[in-house]
Amino acid sequence: MVTTKQRMTVQGGAVRSVLVDGDGFRSAQDIHATLRLRGKPVGLSTVYRHLQSLVEQGVADVIQSPDGEATYRYCGETTSAHHHHLVCRKCGHTEEVKARAVERWAAEIASKFDFSDVDHTVEIFGTCASCRGTAEESASTADEGLRPQPMESKSK
Ligand SMILES: [Zn+2]
Ligand SMILES: [Zn+2]
Ligand SMILES: [Zn+2]
Repeated sequence: MVTTKQRMTVQGGAVRSVLVDGDGFRSAQDIHATLRLRGKPVGLSTVYRHLQSLVEQGVADVIQSPDGEATYRYCGETTSAHHHHLVCRKCGHTEEVKARAVERWAAEIASKFDFSDVDHTVEIFGTCASCRGTAEESASTADEGLRPQPMESKSK
């Protein structure tokens, strides 16, 4: 006989393990689909609930993706300390970054306008070096004719 509480713990562990295995930020739907593939179907609302509790426990980070979706990532040790992210749009690879200039700026703005209990979210999205590498490779084979020619080739 499995109690509701035990089932919750098992599902929470499964949600957590999907986060730990992944490198980048992932949406609840994505995690939900992975659980299904692993033969551990968990309802989407349950996935959301576990993700939320992992965020509250400081185990996971949540950020808004460029298309406005909440995405989650296991940040381990670093999560307890305030930090920011550099996120690859293509593969989701994420670097944890400290941003002292941002913290100073946020504090200045808050005091200038006399705000208290301020919080902020600053994430940087881009293309990581390895994704850029593959993009450049495929571009060089596909768009050969469009690439600018070196100056010397004209004089020859
Ligand atoms: Zn993080
Ligand atoms: Zn990438
Ligand atoms: Zn900050």
